[in-house]
Amino acid sequence: MAFQNTLAFAQSLDQADPLRSYRDQFHIPTFNGKDTVYLCGNSLGLQPKAARAALEEEMTKWAELGVEGHFTGDTPWFTYHAALAEPTARLVGALPQEVVVMNQLTVNLHLMLVSFYLPQGQRYKILTEAGAFPSDQYALESQVKFHGFNPDAAIIEVAPRAGEHTLRTEDILAVIREKGSEIALVMMGGVNYYTGQVFDMAAISREAHAAGAICGFDLAHAAGNVPLQLHGWNVDFAVWCTYKYLNSGPGGTSGVFVHERHAKNPDLPRFAGWWGHDQSVRFQMKKGFIPMPGAEGWQLSNSQILPMAVHKASLQMFDQAGMQNLRAKSEQLTGYLEFLINELAQPKEALEVITPKEPSARGCQLSLLVHQNGRELFETLMANGFILDWREPNVIRVAPTPLYNTFEDVFRFGQFLAAHFQK
Ligand SMILES: *Cc1c(COP(=O)(O)O)cnc(C)c1O
Repeated sequence: MAFQNTLAFAQSLDQADPLRSYRDQFHIPTFNGKDTVYLCGNSLGLQPKAARAALEEEMTKWAELGVEGHFTGDTPWFTYHAALAEPTARLVGALPQEVVVMNQLTVNLHLMLVSFYLPQGQRYKILTEAGAFPSDQYALESQVKFHGFNPDAAIIEVAPRAGEHTLRTEDILAVIREKGSEIALVMMGGVNYYTGQVFDMAAISREAHAAGAICGFDLAHAAGNVPLQLHGWNVDFAVWCTYKYLNSGPGGTSGVFVHERHAKNPDLPRFAGWWGHDQSVRFQMKKGFIPMPGAEGWQLSNSQILPMAVHKASLQMFDQAGMQNLRAKSEQLTGYLEFLINELAQPKEALEVITPKEPSARGCQLSLLVHQNGRELFETLMANGFILDWREPNVIRVAPTPLYNTFEDVFRFGQFLAAHFQK
């Protein structure tokens, strides 16, 4: 599409947007009485208006029924997580029995590492991306130490080539091939939080398996942002949070995927709890853990109904809008953002987009590396009603999301940058 740098053009795209009605289903934070330009859904997604009603429903149930709420109503708390399985499976390209919603992201990552990081002899290393999100780095580091290894020896980081900001798929695959016999686990982000790069999960999974390794992904920046086919890509496990693109509230619950081939494997070590125990005999309260088949068998505790109620409302919106439709709009929104940045008078000297240019290698986020006074630019933006996020040492992440952002939002951001750099 040929983009134009005018308000009228941006508004015409909004008029033609089949998803435009979704914005009204969100609370948009305001600044001086007007809507902010909220470009921070990669950090904390906005609140769907339906979230409060979903929460109220469970609060009312609790008020009126007390403990009986576990077994009463349309979605009894006892099996509440099961109501999330189908929409979650559609979101990440999985079978319903391959997914479960529980806990929080880093907790789930540790649970998956307990089951899927199984060092044996020379095969004890974990391959990951350099510059992964810190929680993932700490999780991997502490897990390899837990198994008695030195993280410097046991963690292989694949880094961009000199002078480049993102990883080349061929380089990731080459390291997997080269060190294959030493690698127990390939564990990466699906989308890197800093650069916004989408990794080729299908190719990485294939190569990891060819090397005899297990393959897992942290999809914190991928779930609800890019289309996923976890089952088809043959990924072994994945984890994600729900408060970024999935709009399920601060510190919200998390999702887990375990491929069905592991569903009934009794040899996998796991840390068990009563909520993963065979549901039909759970309340016999007997010794001897019998895991439920599938991802449910990794549950530890009874479900956190309140955050899960919010997530349920959010998943309904994703189901209704459809991930393919969201992705189509997302590519346009981000394409428009890129176009406006390229229109800036002196982009090369002022800032550089480090996110890949190919739409298939990125989600909605563009990461702007600001060469001079980046922090000042960021603070000026924030002081003028633009909500974005800053990552040390000099990156502003801009994430227009297709559910509630408009082309006009993106246009206004472009206008502001243009004015800033003309000063
Ligand atoms: C946001 C994010 C986290 C945060 O972890 P929590 O356990 O939810 O606090 C972890 N890893 C990645 C890749 C993230 O993007």
